Amino acid sequence: MKLLAATRSRGKQPEIRRILEPAGLEVSFPDERGIWESTVEDTLENTESFEGNARRKAEYFARLTGLPTVADDSGLEVFSLGGAPGVRSRRFAGEVGSAETVDAANNAELLRRLRGAPEGRRRARYRCVLVLLREPDGIPETFEGVCGGRILESPRGKGGFGYDPLFYSDELEQTFGEASPEEKDRVSHRGRALRALAAAMTQATR
Ligand code: IMP
Repeated sequence: MKLLAATRSRGKQPEIRRILEPAGLEVSFPDERGIWESTVEDTLENTESFEGNARRKAEYFARLTGLPTVADDSGLEVFSLGGAPGVRSRRFAGEVGSAETVDAANNAELLRRLRGAPEGRRRARYRCVLVLLREPDGIPETFEGVCGGRILESPRGKGGFGYDPLFYSDELEQTFGEASPEEKDRVSHRGRALRALAAAMTQATR
C-alpha cells in the first residue's frame, strides 16, 4: 500500500522508512513526488497541539496528492519548563538556516534555560503524534508515542538529530545521540507511534 509521509525533515525521514517499509508500506516523501517546499507550509504548524499541527499537515498534503497520507508532529517536553519547547521544538531558539544550524541553536537555548538545574528539574519526554488520512476527506486517525528521560548538561554522541545528543533515555541508559538507529527505534516516541500506525494499516488490508 502506498503512503505519503508528509515531512521534509531529514532527521525523521530515515526513521519513518526504517519502520514502515519492513511492514510492507510503500513510503514516499513530498520531494520525491516533485512537491517542492512552498511558503504555505510555514503556516500549517500554527496550532497549540502536536495533534492539531499533524492534522493540518496531513490534510494539506493529502489534498495535494490524493494519496493516503501520514504527518508527524513531535517535540521535546521539559517538565520544569512547563512543557517547553513542546510544539515550538523546531523554532525554540528562533534561528533559521540549515538543520544543523537550527539544531545547534536549539540545543544551546535548552542548555541555557536549564543551566544549574539539578537532575530532578531536568526530567523530559519526547512526544510524537501521527495523523493518518486514508483519503483526503477521510476521518483522521491518530497514533501517539512517548519516551521518557532527562536532559544532560552537555551533549553525548553524534547520532540522531535535533535534541538527541542531550536526551538521556531512561530505558536505553544512554543518549539518543549515542544509541544505534535500531536502539533508538525500539524505545523512541516515533518508533512507538509508527509501529501502532503500521499495525492499524496492515490489519485493515488483511
Ligand atoms: P516538527 O518537524 O515541527 O514536528 O518539529 C520537530 C522538532 O522536534 C525537531 O526539529 C526537533 O527539534 C524535535 N524532535 C522531534 N523528534 C525528535 C527526535 O526524535 N530527536 C530529536 N529531536 C526531535
